[in-house]
Amino acid sequence: FFDKEISEPKKGTLARAPAQGADYDRANATLLVLVRNEELNQLLHTIRQIEEHWNSKFHYPYTFVNDQEFSAKFKQSVNAATSGKCNFVVIPKEIWDPPANIDMDKLFHEIDIMEEQQINYAGKLSYRNMCRFNSGYFYQLDFLKQFKWYWRFEPGTNYFCDIDYDLFKFMEENDKTYGFVISLYDAPQTVETLWPVTLDYVKKNPQFVHPNGAFKWLTENLQNPWHARATEGYSTCHFWSNFEIANMDFYRGEAYSGWIKSLEENGGFYYERWGDAPVHSVGIGLFEDKDKVHWFRDIGYEHSPYKNCPKSDKCSGCSAGDFGPGSLDDQNCMSNWIKLEMSNEQLAWY
Ligand code: GDP
Ligand code: MN
Repeated sequence: FFDKEISEPKKGTLARAPAQGADYDRANATLLVLVRNEELNQLLHTIRQIEEHWNSKFHYPYTFVNDQEFSAKFKQSVNAATSGKCNFVVIPKEIWDPPANIDMDKLFHEIDIMEEQQINYAGKLSYRNMCRFNSGYFYQLDFLKQFKWYWRFEPGTNYFCDIDYDLFKFMEENDKTYGFVISLYDAPQTVETLWPVTLDYVKKNPQFVHPNGAFKWLTENLQNPWHARATEGYSTCHFWSNFEIANMDFYRGEAYSGWIKSLEENGGFYYERWGDAPVHSVGIGLFEDKDKVHWFRDIGYEHSPYKNCPKSDKCSGCSAGDFGPGSLDDQNCMSNWIKLEMSNEQLAWY
């Protein structure tokens, strides 16, 4: 499956001519990055690749988001590096900081325990703010309300392949909600109660569960069955959210936003450090049609240490078939997605 030479997009109608200056009829979309002033160099490194491989043909706007003011140097530098309009948004404190229901003494106690277990980012409050913001708040920012689609990226990531079609229009025209490149397992200790809290919500709101959800992928972990025990039922499989292209109207809908509210009441974003990747993934897996999830296997991508390097003459700078440490059956949950959730129709498309 992964050794095949690929050339996408497969349907002629999905290809988009390079943008004709400002006249190109773009989708209602933005490139989106949450970033700190100190990360400017890594950010420019990634923007150059996104521009070279894709956006220089389409000129989509960028939205830079920060919990602090962006410096003049930051704004100047990214403006000079991009072919689309740049927007800068500062997150209001009342959205970024822990909400009033968080017991800070309890939080510091939980942080001590997680630090002893050597969980990544155990001690960082800002990391929790970031995960919670990316889970339930970015799409609610006033500035972002005008947009339907976003492509999230991160400073320091690499893009290896030329992409000569409009990814946003691909999503739109094929009625997709969520697009990803890499799928992984998570550390169960960071999502111990996410699943039971979610099941509570689902019991109270059964109408929100999509009949064609990705239930097996969410509950069956073919390689590490103990994950589902540590989490009372969640496989820990998730789409790695440092790259994602998705429709924000899904998050804004009743099912997902009601669920976020109930997650907030539980406090697990702080006490357990729930990541935005498992939260997006559980939300999509339960409340959306799994056929509306698209695997962008043609996007050569790296967020250290994992990568996706397709066999294609459109790619350079990585070795075909290299997924980073571990095999596809080990840390990487992609094979579960393919085996458990892809329809015959989807498989045939690939
Ligand atoms: P990791 O990918 O899980 O290791 O987490 P990162 O450190 O890469 O953070 C994820 C994203 O959030 C990156 O785009 C960071 O630039 C951004 N980020 C993380 N913490 C903060 C923060 O405190 N402030 C801002 N403005 N951005 C942050
Ligand atoms: Mn990162």
